[in-house]
Amino acid sequence: MDQKIGIVIDEDFAVKNYPPYQHPIFLSYENPLRIKLILEYFEKVNLWEDKRIIRLEPKLIEEGLLKLAHSKYYIDTVKRLSKFGSGILGEEVFITNDTFSLAKKAVGGAIEAIEKVIKKEVTQSIALIRPPGHHALREKGSGLCIFNNIANAIFYLRKNVQYDKKIAIVDIDDHFGDGLVQYFYDDPDVLYFSIHEFDFIENDIGFINELGDGQGIGKSINFPVPAGITDNDFLVFLDILEPILKEYEPDLIIVAMGFDMYFDDPIGNCLLTSISYNKFAEKILTMAEEVCEGKLAFILEGGYSLIGLPFCVQAVLSSLLKKKYEQPLFEKINFSSESKMEEVQQIKSKLEKLLRNYWNTLK
Ligand SMILES: [Zn+2]
Repeated sequence: MDQKIGIVIDEDFAVKNYPPYQHPIFLSYENPLRIKLILEYFEKVNLWEDKRIIRLEPKLIEEGLLKLAHSKYYIDTVKRLSKFGSGILGEEVFITNDTFSLAKKAVGGAIEAIEKVIKKEVTQSIALIRPPGHHALREKGSGLCIFNNIANAIFYLRKNVQYDKKIAIVDIDDHFGDGLVQYFYDDPDVLYFSIHEFDFIENDIGFINELGDGQGIGKSINFPVPAGITDNDFLVFLDILEPILKEYEPDLIIVAMGFDMYFDDPIGNCLLTSISYNKFAEKILTMAEEVCEGKLAFILEGGYSLIGLPFCVQAVLSSLLKKKYEQPLFEKINFSSESKMEEVQQIKSKLEKLLRNYWNTLK
């Protein structure tokens, strides 16, 4: 099949669910400008004229479908507060009058991106949706997330498309996907692999020995990294991910695509440039081509640097299109941060040791 990259995007993501905060506080960063600037960048580089790019709309979904991943009470609460027009829904989640409809649309965006890939209507896809989803829980919103876009999409595919194959989720957001992991903690048919910033002094969740449960044991894999990692340190986790993906043989790879390890991100504390995302996408595409006929869907999670976001998306896209990515000049900074390589290698060894109990390839 000729290369066809599906991009799910919608103007609503670029205008709706504006945070009701005028000053830069944590909650204000999840705002429509994130998508608006990506859309403007796409126009500037004439992206839509590329015949290999297919613009897709989020799938229209019934509200009842959200019950596959969320409780009725929680869904009704989001709806009720949206109708009211404001409110705070759990930890770091604001509500405006269009939150419910936009969050539902984000779920539809994730579904469309993944469904088109498994039906082979596109080779790979990218869903540029918001609000993000990987912190959202069955009964609660959390960390700027309302509905769990990826969990909802997987449950939809299982129920409505009778899709029953193995899926690997690779979560590269700066934060641990504490919502997403809980849906699949004992599920052998979903492998969850997360690289995330971790507080090694205070300890944190997303620790290396949270390995899953029951039949899913060994299939929740956390690669925590210290704040301040750079492009030199980021891809070390692939040394573990790659052999595991080959042994697991998923039918599909979903990337929870957070860009908040970017150096200019106001929330994450890492120092990556778009080059890391470009190289990661290149590697994960090669792995997908080896294990699952290239079936790969990228679903946007966090990433709040308005300067960096369009370039990070372009960096991923360039890899999917197999063309050279030109790093923007402003990213060429010599970070004075000390190398984190030793720490990262230590984590890798410890994790490898734990995983040897579950994966032959690491023995
Ligand atoms: Zn994040």
